[in-house]
Amino acid sequence: MKVSLKLDKFEFKGVPVERPLIMAGPCSAETEEQVMETAREIKNHGVQIFRAGIWKPRTRPSPFEGVGKEGLPWLKRVKEELGMYTATEVANVKHVYDALKAGIDIIWIGARTTANPFAVQEIADALKGVDVPVMVKNPVSPDLELWIGAFERLNSAGITKLAAIHRGFSQYNKTLYRNNPQWEIPIELKRLIPDLPIITDPSHICGSRDLLYEISQKAMDLDFYGLIIETHCNPDKAWSDAQQQLTPDNLNKLIHKLVLRSAAVQNNTILSTLEEYRHEIDKYDDKIMDIFEHRMAISRKIGEYKKKNNITILQTSRWDEIIRTKIEQAAKKGLGEEFIIKIFRAIHEESINHQTKVMNE
Ligand code: PEP
Ligand code: MN
Repeated sequence: MKVSLKLDKFEFKGVPVERPLIMAGPCSAETEEQVMETAREIKNHGVQIFRAGIWKPRTRPSPFEGVGKEGLPWLKRVKEELGMYTATEVANVKHVYDALKAGIDIIWIGARTTANPFAVQEIADALKGVDVPVMVKNPVSPDLELWIGAFERLNSAGITKLAAIHRGFSQYNKTLYRNNPQWEIPIELKRLIPDLPIITDPSHICGSRDLLYEISQKAMDLDFYGLIIETHCNPDKAWSDAQQQLTPDNLNKLIHKLVLRSAAVQNNTILSTLEEYRHEIDKYDDKIMDIFEHRMAISRKIGEYKKKNNITILQTSRWDEIIRTKIEQAAKKGLGEEFIIKIFRAIHEESINHQTKVMNE
């Protein structure tokens, strides 16, 4: 079911933001010099929106939890001297008032705050009657409902310039990424609320510099609206998130390397060729559905047989063998291991459901 929000175009005082919207700046504002130097260099590369964390939600207690209020006048300088828009994170009502008083142009709600509906509601209440764009990062857990809930709370408080920031999801087992992108979640958000701009935060997804381009390009190819990229005049010396921040020059290189493709197909020849391909894909997808139907019919038969012979549904060694052989086959067929594991887990789960039904009949 679609989610209905009353949204206005994402713009500043009547100036629309062109896609891709690029926000850049340090993870944290550290000193006035660091803020001004970073902002100046970023601005020279044509970036309009400056991000900097003033209050930092550190997962573990840390000696550095942001400079606090004292950094707000620095952002004001960025705005006044460089003509940039400024953005910072707020986590409570006091942050909201201080940020608004300092003339911050965009506020964002961080991943740890989005996870707390009480905090989001308080922030929404504090924003009543204020015309400020608000961006909401995904909650740390892969919970789309919680993310949508935050937009609903803000929208009910009258905030209509909303955007989502996709920053990936926490995971216990460390993988390639600091936060798992789980693209299917922002994609589903886009399906449910097509007018809500989605901005990807490759910095917090990757946790390191080398993967930033790949994630940024992918976000563009999913037709997401923009990117928020941590950028620092001296990244290695950053007081937080040093490994993932770019120099302004490298940010510029990344932006110029991005290939922007269009989601709208204007040309009829292209459209009809695409349709041919899609038709072929549909045929295969229908075949997959038929195969699933037959596959589950056999699952029910085996369920009946297990029932008659008093055998459990789950046979761990059999399941282990399936996963192992499928991973081998996948490699030969050029299919991703993670994909195949997901598919076979889902098939196995569905098969267990069919067998359970038979057992209980
Ligand atoms: C940040 O953007 O600096 C930040 C703290 O991000 P997140 O809320 O995504 O962890
Ligand atoms: Mn950070």
